[in-house]
Amino acid sequence: MSVGFIGLGIMGAGMAANLLKDGHDLTIWNRTASRMTPLVDLGATAAASPAEVAEQCDIIMICVSDTPDVQQVVLGDHGVLEGITAGSLIIDHSTISPSATIELAGATLAKSAHWLDAPVSGGSEGAVKGTLSIMIGGDAAQLERAMPYLNSVGTTITHVGDQGAGQLAKVVNQILVVGNQLAVSEAMLVAQAGGLDLNKTLDAVKGGAAGSWMLANRGPQMIVRDWTPGFTIDLQQKDLRLVLEAANDLGVPIPGTSLIYQLYRALQTQGLGSEGNHALVKALEDMCGIHVGEVDG
Ligand code: NAP
Repeated sequence: MSVGFIGLGIMGAGMAANLLKDGHDLTIWNRTASRMTPLVDLGATAAASPAEVAEQCDIIMICVSDTPDVQQVVLGDHGVLEGITAGSLIIDHSTISPSATIELAGATLAKSAHWLDAPVSGGSEGAVKGTLSIMIGGDAAQLERAMPYLNSVGTTITHVGDQGAGQLAKVVNQILVVGNQLAVSEAMLVAQAGGLDLNKTLDAVKGGAAGSWMLANRGPQMIVRDWTPGFTIDLQQKDLRLVLEAANDLGVPIPGTSLIYQLYRALQTQGLGSEGNHALVKALEDMCGIHVGEVDG
């Protein structure tokens, strides 16, 4: 049987291409049909609905935007559970609510099928290169079954616990991502205000204790003021809502992350939700009138 992939956005397109590259027989579906064409050209088979993907595949990978979107492609009309066969496995790579994940896993079990939550980290670059970090929640035997496919899309695959635990680990991941993004933004702004050469400054600090994925990948983009998204502000805010909900449920104060949520909120109000999450620096620029990457004269 072939492996299925539903959701061919920034992340899903790269992940699906890597499955094909490794020789997997791949069936795909995307809501906007035109996004399937490049993968069909590479050898994938296009299905007419998520249900049809499930009819043709015993492993069904999903990477769509938000909790209601996963609910729609799994539980909705012509959704995965309409076509699924007993014993099949759904692997959800979307970042969604840990509690909704447990409900989706339950609905899947009611069809005698299995669920792994498998949110990813590593950005659009990691999706293209097949080097994603994948946080797994679910049954160890199902993870073993999934490994040939997960190995095509990621390099760090960690079983963190039962269903929902993968999504909670992703919440932890997102606290680190945005905290790092704020630090990179403040650092670049100070370098700019102090008249440092931004590229030389980045080279000087990125190999030491201050180095990070965010600095290495998004720092250069900030210097040339390229706000093309690897991850949009709107999706970042979706993740931060999941973070704030989880911390609230657990009674944990996260003042830093709450502040960053508000900074991104201001950028969304300015109509910048479709820019990359590194445009966070613009919220700080607005406070002082200094702009990273701008050269005098
Ligand atoms: P994206 O480029 O906006 O793509 C979203 C995908 O979801 C598209 O294929 C879209 O279909 C599909 N979709 C959305 N709502 C749907 C619905 N109701 N029914 C059917 N399909 C629907 O987003 P992305 O950046 O690939 O992110 C996908 C997931 O990965 C998100 O959960 C995100 O948080 C997570 N993630 C992203 C990154 C990153 O750096 N980008 C990193 C880690 C994790 P259409 O083509 O029809 O719009």
